[in-house]
Amino acid sequence: MCQSDVVWGYKCPLTEESIESDHFFPRALGGPAIGTNQVWLCRTHNQWKGSDLMHYPWERGAPEWLDRQIERMRVLIDPALPISR
Ligand SMILES: [Zn+2]
Repeated sequence: MCQSDVVWGYKCPLTEESIESDHFFPRALGGPAIGTNQVWLCRTHNQWKGSDLMHYPWERGAPEWLDRQIERMRVLIDPALPISR
């Protein structure tokens, strides 16, 4: 069943679509392939979501792996970049 209610706050009306697993925090932005970062969406909602962080539920708090991912990205971009919080 499409979890559009988790992402957009409304029940998915598209009952005929196949369901796909997606990264809640986008993989393209460092979201890991772990169960706590998984969301099931129909094909249409999955395409809508893309890599948009506007839909991530920040009100639930930052995911425990986020600091590690940001550090990995900082090192990949430029190891000399200072760490800022
Ligand atoms: Zn849907």
